[in-house]
Amino acid sequence: MDLDVFFAGTAGSVPTARRGLPAVLVRRGADRLLFDCGEGTQRQLVRSVGLADLTDVFLTHYHADHWLGLPGMLKTFALRDRDRPLTIHGPAGLDQLMALMRPVYGRLPYEVELVELQPGSPVQRDGYAVTGFAVDHRAAALGYALVEHERHGRFDAELAERLGVTPGPDFGRLQHGETVDGVVPEQVMGEPRPGRKVVISGDTGPCESVTVAAREADLLIHEATFTQEEVQRAARTRHATARQAAETAQAAGVRLLALVHLSTRYFGREVRDEARAIFPDTVVPHDFDTIEIPFPERGEPRLVRWEERQPAPA
Ligand SMILES: [Zn+2]
Ligand SMILES: [Zn+2]
Repeated sequence: MDLDVFFAGTAGSVPTARRGLPAVLVRRGADRLLFDCGEGTQRQLVRSVGLADLTDVFLTHYHADHWLGLPGMLKTFALRDRDRPLTIHGPAGLDQLMALMRPVYGRLPYEVELVELQPGSPVQRDGYAVTGFAVDHRAAALGYALVEHERHGRFDAELAERLGVTPGPDFGRLQHGETVDGVVPEQVMGEPRPGRKVVISGDTGPCESVTVAAREADLLIHEATFTQEEVQRAARTRHATARQAAETAQAAGVRLLALVHLSTRYFGREVRDEARAIFPDTVVPHDFDTIEIPFPERGEPRLVRWEERQPAPA
């Protein structure tokens, strides 16, 4: 099951020529989940991986840089005759926000379900759940943890055969918990393995709930609006510095930290260097970069630059 994260917009507050406003597309199997939808997000997607028929949209909070792209995107889906339902999730205030937007996007030919999430109540999907957790920002704001269900332990085919089970359908029955020819699954299956975990902080100051949610995550996507030289401004505006994000990643023991929501005053390198001094496994994605997240036994999460994906010039 493929799992990756596509960075559609990595700026905070205002877009630059190189960075669009916040939007992260999580792709798992056929599911497409969009986290935040800053102004211009649909254009960012059209220019890169295409505007997929999203399964769910999750908003972290209602500062304008995180949702202004939504009405236009809903309208586009309508114009191309989408008919599958779409669920939009967010913290308290979602109903009110969408009521304000309604005259903008008008009547839609598909069903839109609005879900105001309570921190800690999981949204169950096939094979995983997405759970919001409260963070420390100037508004009601949530971070999100996408956690896959536990996987079966490793199946020891050789041992099963030695115990007299015939390869084929009987192997499948064993792996699904049935006893076959007197062999019980526990004899040939290893311990269940944890699924993968991706955590998105949204906008927040340094915050214990992020550390808890991100414990041993494969990927933590954390905001880093500032560097330490503006630590006071970060505290005042309830944002994080690169160093603070790195400290959170270290405390949580994540495998990879990706920093987003960069202020226009930074290029990325100084943000990356400040974080790496604390937590070396840090990347600062550009717009259109992807992070691939294999199962742990198949390798480390890896940043793939957009340029690497493009065919070499002739
Ligand atoms: Zn923001
Ligand atoms: Zn904000």
